[in-house]
Amino acid sequence: MHDQIAVVQGDITTLAVDAIVNAANESLLGGGGVDGAIHRAAGPGLLAECRKLGGCPTGQAKLTRGYQLPAKHVIHTVGPVWRGGAAGEPDLLASCYRSSLQLAAGKGLATVAFPSISTGIYGYPIALACRIALRTTKAFLEHHTQPRLVTFVCFTAHDLDEYKLALAEMVNGGARLHPVV
Ligand code: ADP
Repeated sequence: MHDQIAVVQGDITTLAVDAIVNAANESLLGGGGVDGAIHRAAGPGLLAECRKLGGCPTGQAKLTRGYQLPAKHVIHTVGPVWRGGAAGEPDLLASCYRSSLQLAAGKGLATVAFPSISTGIYGYPIALACRIALRTTKAFLEHHTQPRLVTFVCFTAHDLDEYKLALAEMVNGGARLHPVV
């Protein structure tokens, strides 16, 4: 399993993968954070295609082309806004990862990169969110042949540390180990 999951630090708009995932909002018409960065790098063709999609409910995902991005496609998913954790946020966040991976698998996409959905402007605590991201992806990959590589792209060194710790815990069956760099 763990050779199908990679954790890196960087800017997701630079990755030449089959699909990068966008942490979008329900309008799919652009926003701040990673959404703004993806639209800037993709150019106006992306917004033009997004306008035709009619938005996207929280927890679901929609696919577009990648335009001027090195990535071939963009999977737009809408994460939950953090409201304290008792408003269905964990299920909705897991659904974002599952829906995005299902779209990728359905299109036969082999390489997919995710940002840390909901943990920026939407306020989801990174330590909780990254465990949902990793567990949901691991469960999906156990039952599908595509994608064959899922990369989690952390924007900050702190987020990278959180992901590495959570990945080490998961690989070691829940033991709290310090991650090997
Ligand atoms: P949300 O509204 O879902 O919280 P944000 O875009 O505000 O979305 O933040 C999601 C995550 O994306 C945050 O961890 C933020 O640091 C990160 N991020 C912002 N820009 C980029 C980028 N260019 N590449 C990868 N991650 C990014």
